[in-house]
Amino acid sequence: MAIRQDENQPNRRVGIVNLILIGFGVLLLLSNFLPNPGAQVPRVPYSLFIDQVNDNNVKRAYITSDQIRYELKTPPAEDAPMVLSTTPIFDMDLPQRLEEHGVEFAAAPPKKPSFITTALSWVVPPLIFILVLQFFARRSGMGGAQGALSFTKSKAKVYVPDEESRVTFADVAGVDEAKAELTEIVDFLKTPERYTAIGARIPKGVLLVGPPGTGKTLLSKAVAGEASVPFFIISGSEFVELFVGAGAARVRDLFEEAKKKAPCIIFIDELDAIGKSRAGSMGVVGGNDEREQTLNQLLTEMDGFAAKDKPVIVLAATNQPETLDAALLRPGRFDRQVLVDRPDLSGRRTILDIYAKKVKLADGVDLDRIAQATAGFAGADLANLVNEAALLAARVRRTSVEQGDLNEAIERVVAGLEKKSRVLQPDEKKVVAYHEVGHAIVGHLMPGGSKVAKISIVPRGMSALGYTLQLPTEERFLNSKEDLEGQIATLLGGRSAEEVVFGAITTGAANDLQRATDIAEQMVGTFGMSSTLGPLAYDKQGGSRFLGGANNPRRAVSDTTAQAIDREVRSLVDRAHDRALSILHHNRDLLERIAQEILDKEVIEGDELKGLLAESVMPEEARALA
Ligand code: ADP
Ligand code: MG
Ligand code: ZN
Repeated sequence: MAIRQDENQPNRRVGIVNLILIGFGVLLLLSNFLPNPGAQVPRVPYSLFIDQVNDNNVKRAYITSDQIRYELKTPPAEDAPMVLSTTPIFDMDLPQRLEEHGVEFAAAPPKKPSFITTALSWVVPPLIFILVLQFFARRSGMGGAQGALSFTKSKAKVYVPDEESRVTFADVAGVDEAKAELTEIVDFLKTPERYTAIGARIPKGVLLVGPPGTGKTLLSKAVAGEASVPFFIISGSEFVELFVGAGAARVRDLFEEAKKKAPCIIFIDELDAIGKSRAGSMGVVGGNDEREQTLNQLLTEMDGFAAKDKPVIVLAATNQPETLDAALLRPGRFDRQVLVDRPDLSGRRTILDIYAKKVKLADGVDLDRIAQATAGFAGADLANLVNEAALLAARVRRTSVEQGDLNEAIERVVAGLEKKSRVLQPDEKKVVAYHEVGHAIVGHLMPGGSKVAKISIVPRGMSALGYTLQLPTEERFLNSKEDLEGQIATLLGGRSAEEVVFGAITTGAANDLQRATDIAEQMVGTFGMSSTLGPLAYDKQGGSRFLGGANNPRRAVSDTTAQAIDREVRSLVDRAHDRALSILHHNRDLLERIAQEILDKEVIEGDELKGLLAESVMPEEARALA
């Protein structure tokens, strides 16, 4: 798409005028410190002046507020100066004394400021103010490209789709439901008459909801591309800035511009930045007035425009729909919500196809396997994955991307970049090896749709010292209680192995424990899986559904219930821990063997791992704990 900044070009002259003005200001300041050229008269102490007056030796005196200049009758010496000056002291008797001694004296009239000084004193301070404002405006990125007082201009960028760079629905994959919904919007934009002719109301707002990186921005560009209409894109956070009221003015400006270009699309990314529920921010001291004003303006504008044959459709995206103000979701505003979720297996396959076409793939690369191994990846992750693989291939100067590159790229995307340089001490390495094998053996014996595919003790990323990769064997949307208990036991398998082998524990299990506790809490509080507490949701659905925020507020419960919840979570984790311990005690030899193996090789995977893990057995007492 051709990008055109719809803004005024910078005005060079403004800069030069500024410079001149600054120069003026500096001169004005300096002039106060410059010596007065007419004042080169010898200065004498005041007491001498009084003596000379008393001696009747002063002919006349000229008195100003900061100087007394006087002329002597006879100089004290041959060529001593006749005219002297002194600094006046607050002396009420001076006029009388001068009169007594016959001195002719006069005072200077009060100084009248010149026209120039007056003018400057009126002009310079506001100018300085404007310069400061401008400075801040630049710094806050309000566009150095804009003049001094254009804070209220919307900063929306306009994309006018042109043929070769147009984004279309063909560029978006794996989100078929969303595409189907938006196809209708394209139709509205292309042929509004068809809908208005039978009296149908064209929707004004469509909200795209989904986790980051699933293609919300891409989809809305595709709508504009398909309909061949201009596309205004602005992020919600850009409305909310330094100056109160600027946000609202920007909304107004944006809609004004859009109406001129109708039919067109306005896309507001990160709508939650302005659209947060007002109820939620009530009572905050100092409030969020600015955001509220902006939101109100947005609501007003959306109610306002109703040009029949020239629709302006507002698309917006958010990953926190639950935080949005209810007024935004009312009919006539964002009354349509389109879920853009992470792609499923076939969706991932088609997305991989799109990006695989952009790189050179070696023959025999199996994208199906990659799609299988990337459950939970969003579109952006997959795009990133293919690119990583291409980078890996290029680094070793291969001319095409092979399966191995893609596999390694998966691990990179999952676990951060490989850090070969980080060296573990031998004893640390041993702990990590047993820890990971503990995960693997417990994980292998647990029910649920995933199998242990790889154990590695090559450190990756910033935190993981080693890792055990479990891949789902099938696409899963529901987890049973047994699956979740199995997951908790698997997570505790690492810590348990350390206990079984070394009888000591390390800090290495912190992340495992975090995740295990999260799962246990959700089982009790969200999924109602506890037999003693019953199918109640003790956690309110809050936080962010898509950003994986785990801090759901708890419903108001009695103290006894709260204690019961804590006990239940505790007992879930304890049971899983016992189970893992029992399994590892029972498979002690196997644990030893695999751990030695991995200390040699650093990585075990594939058939070898399968063969080893097949020897593990589920002890009776562990089964009983399930
Ligand atoms: P979002 O706005 O949902 O956070 P984006 O639309 O910005 O995500 O996605 C970022 C990039 O990831 C896109 O530019 C595109 O390259 C890729 N991408 C994401 N989702 C998809 C998809 N469903 N199909 C194809 N590419 C995708
Ligand atoms: Mg986006
Ligand atoms: Zn672990």
